[in-house]
Amino acid sequence: LALQEKALYPLMQQIKYLWDPEGILNPGKLLSDDREQCIRNLRVPIRAPGLPNRSAHASATASSAEPGEAEPSQPTPLRDLTELQLDWHPQQVAEIAEQCFGCGRCRTQSLPERMCPFFRIVPAEEASPRAKANLLRGIVSGRLELASLTQDQLKQIMDLCFHCHSCRLECPAGVDIPRLVSEAKGAYVAAKGIPLSDWVLVHLDKWAAWGSLLAPLINPLLATRWFRWVMEKALGIAQGRKLPRLAAQPFLRRAERKRWTRPVRADGPKVALFVDLYANYFDPQLAEALVGILHRHGIPVYVPPEQKIAGTPALMVGQMERFRRLAEHNTALLADAVRQGYHILTPEPAAALCLIHEYRWLLDDEDARLVADNTSEATTYLWRLHTGGRLDLKFRPIQATLGYHLPCRLRALEVGTPGENLLRLIPGLVVYRLEEGCSGMGGAFGLKREHYRTSLRMGWGLISRLRDPEIQAGATECSACKIQMEQGTTKPTLHPIKLLAYAYGLLPEVETLLRQPGKELVLT
Ligand code: SF4
Ligand code: SF4
Repeated sequence: LALQEKALYPLMQQIKYLWDPEGILNPGKLLSDDREQCIRNLRVPIRAPGLPNRSAHASATASSAEPGEAEPSQPTPLRDLTELQLDWHPQQVAEIAEQCFGCGRCRTQSLPERMCPFFRIVPAEEASPRAKANLLRGIVSGRLELASLTQDQLKQIMDLCFHCHSCRLECPAGVDIPRLVSEAKGAYVAAKGIPLSDWVLVHLDKWAAWGSLLAPLINPLLATRWFRWVMEKALGIAQGRKLPRLAAQPFLRRAERKRWTRPVRADGPKVALFVDLYANYFDPQLAEALVGILHRHGIPVYVPPEQKIAGTPALMVGQMERFRRLAEHNTALLADAVRQGYHILTPEPAAALCLIHEYRWLLDDEDARLVADNTSEATTYLWRLHTGGRLDLKFRPIQATLGYHLPCRLRALEVGTPGENLLRLIPGLVVYRLEEGCSGMGGAFGLKREHYRTSLRMGWGLISRLRDPEIQAGATECSACKIQMEQGTTKPTLHPIKLLAYAYGLLPEVETLLRQPGKELVLT
């Protein structure tokens, strides 16, 4: 104001003094002798030595500085971070963190916006996505101690994120908070390791592999309270949480028996199926339904037998060593399949997100790019068949009313609602979209004893909506959301692929699934 009004400024100061001699109204805001007050607290860019200062603020202030004015703020030197967990340069961390301009939109609690499930139930600053960006910016700028990365307090704040990606989608600046959080969690775990309950989640595939050998013995035990009490005490898995039954024979073994693990010789469109943990060990019927639908459309399917789980739980708890190993293994295997002409399909949205998006945080090479560009979530692929006029529409009617939930990780792929669209093609089926936000399951987050109640609070809107007597069953693509949707009701929740297969006359078991009420401690 002093620069703008020049000679009038002292007069303005005197008038203000007459009305406010104590200086209690907006002290120092407009009428102040402090020339630097308007730029002192601006966020200055963080730059590695030698890099040009590219921020809009810097160029604006640099060009408008006049004699007598305060000098523009200089860039903060970038801290030398040599051991980053993801495959990126500290400058990229700084650039993503400083994209956050503090608007606070990520503190919203309104629907149908999804961000942030944590902030919605605990509306405190540390639960907001913005807090995570601020902490990382503090570390790369040197404002916070480097040792903060290995402090429990910082980890507790980063743990208020389960990588649903909703903030990345809805933030006006598109700040990639899940990537920043992964870096911070990874740094902590690299220094301090993980607790037993996280170790159990990271190695769920090993447990499931052993468990499937004893499935006839373990499955009845899963429905007993004493066994679930033992599981909670020994492994940290919430005793009240409904769990899926183990398949006596995992899908990969069934596929081998059916010779789907042999490469396909045919030309034309062909698919390599990546099943991930749930469809392999708990719901092989789902993967078989998908193969049945593809075969019906004349699309040959190859199941790479050496595939491993995608590794979402490892990423979520910050166990980057295992996540990297899984990413390297799956990427090399699937890139090879792509080179042989396969398109990669997976029925699990979280696995699709890993293959398309999250693996590239660790592996920015030719193989990772090839896999990312040639992978689709299964319903997305089938919906594309439909829009290309190649989907068989000879469905038999299903007389049922469903509540459909769009999983956050499918939403994060920005492909619309392909599963819901497919369901709407089936005659007789009434589909309601459930707009109650995130299910709160957060992959394996809601399995843990200490997160069980938090997870239920996050998903309560969705569970309550499903209790509506008008809705007969739930539908969703994500196995974790299914677990949450069946938690508070006796209604089943089915993958759209299973309903589609049933409508094609391929999966008669769905008839029973739709009519039978669920059990207390196990999923349908
Ligand atoms: S993370 Fe995005 S939405 Fe949240 S304060 Fe920063 S810019 Fe705004
Ligand atoms: S990714 Fe999801 S849980 Fe994590 S901060 Fe963003 S909105 Fe919150």
